[in-house]
Amino acid sequence: MAKETHEFQAETKQLLDLMIHSIYTNREIFLRELISNASDAIDKIHFESLTNKDLLEGDSNYEIFLIPDESTHTLSISDNGIGMNREELIENIGTIAKSGTKIFLQKMMEAKENNSAVSGKELIGQFGVGFYSAFMVAEKITVITRRAGDKQAYKWESAGDGSYTIEECAKNKRGTTISLTLAPEFYGDKAEENFTDTNKLQSLVKKYSDYVRYPIKMNFVIEETPKDKDGKEIKDAEKIKRDEIRTLNSMQPLWAKNKSEIKPEEYNEFYKNLFHEWEDPMEVLHNKAEGTIEYTSLLFFPAHAPFNLYHTDYQPGLQLYSRHVFIMDNCKDLLPEYLRFVKGLVDSPDFSLNISRELLQQSRELKIIGRNLENSILKTLEKTLKNNREKYEKFWAEYGKSLKIGVYGNMYSGNDTINKLKDLLLFATSDESKGLTSLKEYIERMPENQKKIYYATGKDRKAIDSLPQMEILRDKNIEVLYLLDNVDEFAIEALHEYDSKPFHSISRGDLDLDDVESQQTKKETEDITKKNESLIKDIKDTLGEKVADVKISNRLKSSAVCLVADEKGPSFSMEQAFAEANNPMFKAKRILEINPHHQLFDRLQSIHNLGKDNPQFKDYCDLLYTQALLIEGILPENPADVANKIASLMSQTK
Ligand code: ADP
Ligand code: MG
Repeated sequence: MAKETHEFQAETKQLLDLMIHSIYTNREIFLRELISNASDAIDKIHFESLTNKDLLEGDSNYEIFLIPDESTHTLSISDNGIGMNREELIENIGTIAKSGTKIFLQKMMEAKENNSAVSGKELIGQFGVGFYSAFMVAEKITVITRRAGDKQAYKWESAGDGSYTIEECAKNKRGTTISLTLAPEFYGDKAEENFTDTNKLQSLVKKYSDYVRYPIKMNFVIEETPKDKDGKEIKDAEKIKRDEIRTLNSMQPLWAKNKSEIKPEEYNEFYKNLFHEWEDPMEVLHNKAEGTIEYTSLLFFPAHAPFNLYHTDYQPGLQLYSRHVFIMDNCKDLLPEYLRFVKGLVDSPDFSLNISRELLQQSRELKIIGRNLENSILKTLEKTLKNNREKYEKFWAEYGKSLKIGVYGNMYSGNDTINKLKDLLLFATSDESKGLTSLKEYIERMPENQKKIYYATGKDRKAIDSLPQMEILRDKNIEVLYLLDNVDEFAIEALHEYDSKPFHSISRGDLDLDDVESQQTKKETEDITKKNESLIKDIKDTLGEKVADVKISNRLKSSAVCLVADEKGPSFSMEQAFAEANNPMFKAKRILEINPHHQLFDRLQSIHNLGKDNPQFKDYCDLLYTQALLIEGILPENPADVANKIASLMSQTK
């Protein structure tokens, strides 16, 4: 095969461009990225060799080598991992296949446009752009690689200028050697950062890659004064040089150490290393279980929910190890779906090394461990909520949605999840001074004669505050939960009740207020309804399909109308959530409620007296309904038509 030249994919070009001209200062992380790729490649050969020993070609001494060379100003990172064939080189290094990287690119572009230097660091840490980060320090990258089991090796080369070349070459050992030809700023004694300096490299490995499972080795040239027979240094003798290969990383798996011997910084460093995070975790849970099932778990809550936590491209799951040997990444079968934000690992001698994912799913041990982990996570959360409200609310801001999805998602599961989660939920409330409230706290504040837990939905506090339905509850000093998140109402629906108190939306069905005054209003409303039967019927007929019913309201004070949803079926906000999820089938049944004490009602009566077919009555009905829609934040189907009607009405007034 002759040397071939390939163009980078357009997106790769952009990324390269950003890397090369990056305003980014923390360039040293390229080493972590390349080492972690090498370590991943060794994981892969290790894993494949479990079913195909021949791949190892007799070499199972896994190792990563750093080879700095000041004279050629290169730094090479060499591994005896899985290697790559030609197709893999093109696929893995020539294109950006991962959606995470694409989003990274987009964000970087935005950050660049906004001239914000901060985001570079955050973004690179978050997205682990990996291989390409090497272009921050290298003017040319050469990859020489041979896939385990293949005879032919390939050389890939690029100056990061839009294209790369591939040609055949020879390589004795399997695996990959990546050689960076360093840019002038990055080698030599006068360099701002010298990446051919062994001490510098050693400290970088300690900092970023200490727990890498495989030895990272480097040759050190030791200068010594020769010694005489008795071991004494010979005076004035010329120094001699000798080579010494040292392993730079401790490889000590942190989780195997005793909890009491581990400093918080060690947990943090370990976490950042293993998961390519740049921020310390918000929670660390380290447990050792002995007994029927033996395991160690080390779990973390990332400081911030990842941008794609709820998307399909997010990879949830824990790492599995058996006696410190890595078995598998992203094992989803340990933790329930709603805890998908938890990162970490489980090490158990009960896991067998070459177990398949399918078999693992059925493993009894895994189920038991999973249940224990879930319980200990929930216990930690309970404790935090009880003892450190501020910390819990931080957690809630990031992962509250997950718990609510957990409640909703387990509506029909028949397990106990809802019960376990219900006390961990927080909601905003009409009483702003209370901040976020748990259901328990709400109940404790509830007056004795209140039978229900009232809630309202809206996109923000203001939207709910201005709902006409809120007025009466405010007047009666009844606390209302403010459901501001799309999933809130779904969770509430799934809970159904708390402490035997049913949930009740202020925009649905009868409010069921129990005080004397309310009973009176109710009776009064019934009377007015009777007296206005034909009016109500005619409004309903005029609006036709648009409404399921028209009623005289007992919940309105100063507003003329409101729209409520039927108690059966979805609410308006659920309707909107369904529509956003491309599922517009679920429509709330609309009930138009009219305030009989509003002046508009008198007017309506007199217009109605002129006959239900008179055009003004029709316009009035339409506009009443539209008003009610607008209050709920729903746009009318034909806004222009509505505007015309309003204009015409306005010009009629004297
Ligand atoms: P990531 O490691 O997150 O997949 P990178 O940009 O770091 O992204 O690497 C891209 C891909 O290139 C890797 O997924 C892997 O397939 C391949 N690769 C990189 N370095 C090596 C290596 N040393 N040995 C084998 N494959 C590698
Ligand atoms: Mg990588």
